[in-house]
Amino acid sequence: MITLSKTEKKILEDSIRDIQDFPKPGIVFKDITTLLNNKEAYGVLMNHLYQRYKEYNLEYIAGIDARGFIFGAALAQMLGIGFVPIRKKGKLPYTTISEKYALEYGVDEIEVHIDAFGKQIGARVLVIDDLIATGGTANAAATLVNQTGAKCVECCFILGLTFLDGIKKLQEKTDVYSVIEVD
Ligand code: AMP
Repeated sequence: MITLSKTEKKILEDSIRDIQDFPKPGIVFKDITTLLNNKEAYGVLMNHLYQRYKEYNLEYIAGIDARGFIFGAALAQMLGIGFVPIRKKGKLPYTTISEKYALEYGVDEIEVHIDAFGKQIGARVLVIDDLIATGGTANAAATLVNQTGAKCVECCFILGLTFLDGIKKLQEKTDVYSVIEVD
């Protein structure tokens, strides 16, 4: 099992900025743009993800709109495998399948191209996003991957909010890994 050293963990934790009351009062937004523009932190993170996933025999990485694209596309390239965007409704041009999920108020919907993971049944897919809160988005993403005939083998997040039960709920469906846990 690949683990972060204390120094690496601190580099990552220090690089993520908390923005109070964004996008609305009461929310502490975890801003990862300050990780991305910090070459040391971004390097530590991508190297850690590469070391963890190089033995997973993955065939695709599926990134969740939009911050999952940044980490997912970079990791797919490092691993020498394909990248698939899972997008908010209405953005993908070809035939899609979609999945709705609950937000605090209302519902949202994400989609994937029906042929995104090729023809082989059970293609091994890693789903990635920047953060898991309630787990609704990632749950819908894992469902979509499995509905195409591929297999979501793990969901990976840079940050996992452990004071919500999103991780626990998602673990009923698939393995879950958070690089950093916030409690
Ligand atoms: P959820 O479906 O509740 O797990 O929410 C996860 C999605 O919402 C991810 O795509 C995150 O980028 C975004 N998100 C939720 N809460 C936060 C937060 N506190 N800071 C930054 N992004 C968040």
